[in-house]
Amino acid sequence: RFEGIPMAPPDPILGVSEAFKADTSDMKLNLGVGAYRTEELQPYVLNVVKKAEKLMLERGENKEYLPIEGLAAFNKATAELLFGADNPVIKQQRVATVQGLSGTGSLRLGAALIERYFPGAKVLISSPTWGNHKNIFNDARVPWSEYRYYDPKTVGLDFEGMIADIKDAPEGSFVLLHGCAHNPTGIDPTPEQWEKIADVIQQKNQIPFFDVAYQGFASGSLDADAASVRLFVARGMEVLVAQSYSKNLGLYAERIGAINVISSSPEAAARVKSQLKRLARPMYSNPPVHGARIVADIVGNPTLFSEWKAEMEMMAGRIKNVRQRLYDSISSKDKSGKDWSFILKQIGMFSFTGLNKDQSENMTNKWHVYMTKDGRISLAGLSLAKCEYLADAIIDSFHN
Ligand code: PMP
Repeated sequence: RFEGIPMAPPDPILGVSEAFKADTSDMKLNLGVGAYRTEELQPYVLNVVKKAEKLMLERGENKEYLPIEGLAAFNKATAELLFGADNPVIKQQRVATVQGLSGTGSLRLGAALIERYFPGAKVLISSPTWGNHKNIFNDARVPWSEYRYYDPKTVGLDFEGMIADIKDAPEGSFVLLHGCAHNPTGIDPTPEQWEKIADVIQQKNQIPFFDVAYQGFASGSLDADAASVRLFVARGMEVLVAQSYSKNLGLYAERIGAINVISSSPEAAARVKSQLKRLARPMYSNPPVHGARIVADIVGNPTLFSEWKAEMEMMAGRIKNVRQRLYDSISSKDKSGKDWSFILKQIGMFSFTGLNKDQSENMTNKWHVYMTKDGRISLAGLSLAKCEYLADAIIDSFHN
């Protein structure tokens, strides 16, 4: 009976790492998955995480189940980090926060809420977007369509197209927005553009659904990276926000994140929370405790909190340095007159190079540079020492 099951295609992002492992070249470089590496290209566990784990071990905490909604201290800390501790929505108890299985699981819970209580409502997603967004809404049986976002001519934002497509979408749609450091393009709206996006969404009675996977990791500042979300919240809008601690705390495998739903009254927020719990219970019963304790302990301890901020600035700073070095190498080596300044305008761990599928394949087949076929490279997987080599690979692939 299982004979009839066809082979599934490899995941376009995680499949890149599998291909990388199989390559025996010394030159090989994995710029596929968005995971932070040191200058020596090794995985990095934050010192502040090690400290928090040591304190936890000393306290000898138990492994009892968490409640369905997760660890209370984590849920409080995560909402305060996102919205700001003195945001009126928190005092007014209009936020329903439920711990999720990192960003992906939190998006999935949000999608399940949409499917159950907004039947037929569509989610608008940017073109392009993180590859898993479509899977998440497909599996939750939420219809989606795309809005224009990326302009290949400028390797920048197609702002007019974005606004026009959101305006054209039905009233009551959900609009999925990347809080900061848009994946895969690295292109974010300016604060003025965010205001205009909020104007349209508000006029159309639509609901913003933010995916915040890089708070503090993009600019180095937790507050700056949450500015887009807070701008919508300050307008009194209802908002959904999925959060992840994979990148900013390097807790990838701990699967720690949250879904936050802002409603217009505390009563509605309580009802929403009860329904999120009801959706979570048959999916995975209750979330894992380890990552939740790490986040709650770090945010709740002023010394650890400031150490975390310093380490986040260090990681964001390393990525910015690599970005600058890559730009310098490419623009000094390339004699074609092509304008590469888009590399510097992008933000976060990714750069969208503008390489097409064939050119991206050349990067891998000829140069052993592993990346997704949409032309995205993870700068977090790049070192200063490898920038020259990568510049040669990109120039060769572009002009061939
Ligand atoms: N959203 C975006 C835009 C992402 O880039 C990622 C991580 N690649 C996620 C969500 C979720 O990651 P995780 O499930 O590890 O938190």
